[in-house]
Amino acid sequence: MAAAPTQSYPPQWTGRNVNLGKYRIVTGYPPYEPHPRYLGELTGSWHQIGRQYGERAADLIRWVYEGWYRELLPVQGSPEIMTAYLRQQEAYYDLLVPEALELMHGIAEGAAAELARSVFARELGHFDKIMMINSYFGLKGTPPATTLAQVTADCGIHCCSGAVILGPATRDGKSIHVSSEDQHFFPQEYLVSFIARPSDPRAHRYTVTDSAGEIGSEHAQNDRGVTVSGYAGGGIGILGPTLTHPFSGYRRPGLDWQVGNFYAAAFADSARHAVELLTVGRPEYRARSGRRIVIGKCTRGVNWVVSDRAQAFVVESIPADQQGTARYAIRVPGQMGEKGGHYIASTNNVEAPDSYNEDNVHDPAHPMRQHGNAEQNPTYFGLNLMGMRFWTFMWLIRNAYGRIDVDMVQAWRRSHFIYDRNGVWHDHATVAGKQVPVHLLPHAATLCWHSSGPAGVDTFEGVDTYVSLSVAQDLTSFRTKGRPCEWSGPGDRLSLG
Ligand SMILES: [Zn+2]
Repeated sequence: MAAAPTQSYPPQWTGRNVNLGKYRIVTGYPPYEPHPRYLGELTGSWHQIGRQYGERAADLIRWVYEGWYRELLPVQGSPEIMTAYLRQQEAYYDLLVPEALELMHGIAEGAAAELARSVFARELGHFDKIMMINSYFGLKGTPPATTLAQVTADCGIHCCSGAVILGPATRDGKSIHVSSEDQHFFPQEYLVSFIARPSDPRAHRYTVTDSAGEIGSEHAQNDRGVTVSGYAGGGIGILGPTLTHPFSGYRRPGLDWQVGNFYAAAFADSARHAVELLTVGRPEYRARSGRRIVIGKCTRGVNWVVSDRAQAFVVESIPADQQGTARYAIRVPGQMGEKGGHYIASTNNVEAPDSYNEDNVHDPAHPMRQHGNAEQNPTYFGLNLMGMRFWTFMWLIRNAYGRIDVDMVQAWRRSHFIYDRNGVWHDHATVAGKQVPVHLLPHAATLCWHSSGPAGVDTFEGVDTYVSLSVAQDLTSFRTKGRPCEWSGPGDRLSLG
């Protein structure tokens, strides 16, 4: 395998992950670099930005592609089935956000020579390799096996957790948006970080950290202070596809969680504008597609947390309810009892008491929260693992209201305890007569997640890939690489100011 080029990082990136060398890597792949590879400021048309990205991160893009290909092939069965899914996604993005496709074409061109050397070089075209990296959660959804549509109970995979704390709840009056990619290490720890300055007059300058080849990933911020983070969302009561309609149900073409982060961070003037883009799209999308809402998706549903200097929202979307209808809901601070109405959290749970249907008609008779709230199928403390992280955030913020600052929120992310819905603190549970710390408890999840192995065993397979924290007023983001409890020193800082 080609050796990675010598990297230079911004001088303020002096922190490090002390356990990075223990994180899981498939045999034969290169070690993770100590920080996300910094690609600098990428400029020009979307295609030119993509080309610079592809050229500077070609080797990493290849590892990420191969890692996902190895993982997704057994789910999908053949490269032809993957390609058919990607064609549907491409056609949808052509209507919703064609800029995403231009960017991905540029990445594919910039990384072409390295992708041609891949062990899976011929299985997918270069553009489809990049599309696959940007569609991996959708490709975790199994293709149809029956002619009868089935409603999912729970997909069992939940990822990412975040919160926004607005000025009135913080010590210095500035808004803090924190989120984590609660996923596995290989191949996702092959990270890049960059600032994009598009020549597109509708776009903003923005920064994002991604697994190489992704365009939006989990957390992005633009020069208006609009910050967007994405999450797997509602997974219960979602209709599946059928052999006769293989791209129905959760396999409908739609806006993938991470491409949604790109879309909103690149184009939103405000948090409210980001909500509009993520729920109903641009006027030309509605005119050209005949649709009234955006079809938001992950493997099942998707959540987006959006904020700016003054406001915060959670968008909860599903591609198909029990009848196959897409829905979205908008949650605002205060609805879940948030003190002062100045913070909001989301951790894959859907909690809205209402929804909008595919005709964009408000439907109070169909609460989004039936599709996967914090207490459905509980495992410990009356909560599922979405609920454990959700209520931990909610109580941490409430208990420190008005005193919260960046250092405090970074410390929260290192915590190995859980607050239940009533605010009771737990740091262990009893399994087969043994006391097990909650961060190593299967079917439990802390804000620093861990737990991939049997009770009490750390397998270093995953969770968390990285944690991001952005301050809107300062246009500044901080990141860890890997789990926050294993990160020492300051977070990797990038500023759009
Ligand atoms: Zn930890």
